[in-house]
Amino acid sequence: MTAAKQQSDLASVSPEPVSGISKLAPYVQGKSQVDGCANPIKLSSNESHLGPSPKAIEAYNEAAKSLFRYPNGSQADLIGAIAQTFDLDPSKLICGNGSDELISLITRAYVAPGDEVIVSEYSFAMASIHAISQGATVVTAPEPELCVSVDHILERVTNLTRLVVIANPNNPVGQYISRAEIERLHQGLPSHVLLLLDGAYADYIVDPEFEAGESLVEKADNVVMTRTFSKLYGLAALRIGWAYCPEAVIDSLQRIRTPFNTNAAALAAAEAAVLDIEHTTMVRDHNNAWLKKIADTLNAAGLTVIPSATNFYLVQFPSSSEKSSQAAWDFLLAKGIIPRPVNAGGPENCLRITIGLDEENQAVIDALTEFVNT
Ligand SMILES: *Cc1c(COP(=O)(O)O)cnc(C)c1O
Repeated sequence: MTAAKQQSDLASVSPEPVSGISKLAPYVQGKSQVDGCANPIKLSSNESHLGPSPKAIEAYNEAAKSLFRYPNGSQADLIGAIAQTFDLDPSKLICGNGSDELISLITRAYVAPGDEVIVSEYSFAMASIHAISQGATVVTAPEPELCVSVDHILERVTNLTRLVVIANPNNPVGQYISRAEIERLHQGLPSHVLLLLDGAYADYIVDPEFEAGESLVEKADNVVMTRTFSKLYGLAALRIGWAYCPEAVIDSLQRIRTPFNTNAAALAAAEAAVLDIEHTTMVRDHNNAWLKKIADTLNAAGLTVIPSATNFYLVQFPSSSEKSSQAAWDFLLAKGIIPRPVNAGGPENCLRITIGLDEENQAVIDALTEFVNT
């Protein structure tokens, strides 16, 4: 074929995205509006309604004074603050535009077309999206007990597996597996497989049997942990998260991240937030007290609240049509309360509801109690 002929063939062809992209369904954000309700109670996105530390807001306002400057590309101040608060090695830390960006960078750095990525059934949809856009195959390990199953993951490992992603605690269920189970998972993986522990909700847990994964990152070459300021720290709008990784992984991520992936306002606010232990403790205590109160009250009213260790809880409704999750969804929306329906593939007949302020949580309790009793 001549060059001229080739050109004329291509003349009618539009630009094509790489193979994985057309297979992706766009991300659907939690609902935020209700027709006819000016101020709905939005409990659909696991946001922290108590907001960030007042010191974070102060730091954010201070950052407004020098918006003409590029941020500190080394992220050193925030990394130092994270290392101090969590007692971690700063050379193993990196920050991202939300932990979502870090999951994307890790996938881009370690997964090639044709590789396999194992995701656990209830984790973060974005991990699959990043894998598919790399041209990789996503293999889903079921969670029959509504919790990460180490055995189901290990059964699915093949020569093509490059990455295993679990959210611990998981979402939308809110359950976690212990440090011992994470270690058993790690021991069962071949050394070339990277294990990504997404600890978006780890900050809420006080159980000493739980660990988000930092000690494993320190002793293994193939474990990374991601964390976020979007949940307990109340900085979802700023898009800031961090990862704790072996130095070789940090080196890869530093090469592919853009030099200013984290903005100055986010860096400043997150630094103040992570150092404000008092605020962190207050938010955690508020959350965990309400988790218990809501579960006790709704379980007593005849609903099933699945035990959660996060800032949300799943309510399971009966399958009868009058009291189904769909009926509860309509009932709550009519009262201006927005939960999140659990998408296809999640546990059946459930709504996921975020912990809010005192009066918001009470409104949910009152509404669901009324729903059950009428
Ligand atoms: C909310 C959430 C995240 C955090 O995402 P960011 O990009 O840091 O806002 C990560 N994983 C899970 C499971 C989540 O629910």
